[in-house]
Amino acid sequence: MVASQLRARGIHDERVLAAMERVPRHEFVAERFHDRAYEDHPIPIAEGQTISQPYIVAFMLESLTLEPNSKVLEVGTGSGYQTALLAELSGYVTSIERIPGLAQEAQSTLPRLGYGNVNIIVGDGSQGLPDAAPYDAIIVAAAAPRVPPALFEQLAENGRMVIPVGLPDAQELQLVRKLNGRPMIQRLEGCRFVPLIGAQGYAG
Ligand code: SAH
Repeated sequence: MVASQLRARGIHDERVLAAMERVPRHEFVAERFHDRAYEDHPIPIAEGQTISQPYIVAFMLESLTLEPNSKVLEVGTGSGYQTALLAELSGYVTSIERIPGLAQEAQSTLPRLGYGNVNIIVGDGSQGLPDAAPYDAIIVAAAAPRVPPALFEQLAENGRMVIPVGLPDAQELQLVRKLNGRPMIQRLEGCRFVPLIGAQGYAG
């Protein structure tokens, strides 16, 4: 997976590649998908949600330029797969998931695999989590109609956010940086995510 899907397509951050090599992706999917867990496509998880294709996850992580002491907010825990990668790459991860069943499952998988620097919270992540702000990096794993102002507000100065922005059936990944309190937006590439459902996302 790392050689043919990531390195060959231009992912070059060695910390990201090493983390992708270490995190056991099959542990985050149902047993019937175990033999397909490392293939080049998204995988269904519970509640009609999906884990993104490995390349997209690596591309988003690389764009965030995380450091070992970064404080990160993740919106959309899902299975917890990407949370594990964030835990490998940064100092502390707060992850918000709106569906309690998914949050519970991730809450049992992550400590079992040895990830202790993670806090999973059930709630509407489109509004972020002001209590633990500001964050050096924010990663949104669901598609938003626009960059939620609450999330931008909770970003530290020089912080980075990666978020899919657009219509429910097609979006573009955007890298949003906070420089002198203002957003600098870079458009990365086309993508397709499940919708962000919440006050600053889509209606449920
Ligand atoms: N990155 C995850 C996959 C995320 S799928 C993984 O590695 O498995 C997107 C997730 O975002 C879904 O679990 C969905 O329930 C969640 N979600 C959608 N809207 C949300 C919101 N407003 N707040 C928190 N989570 C949300």
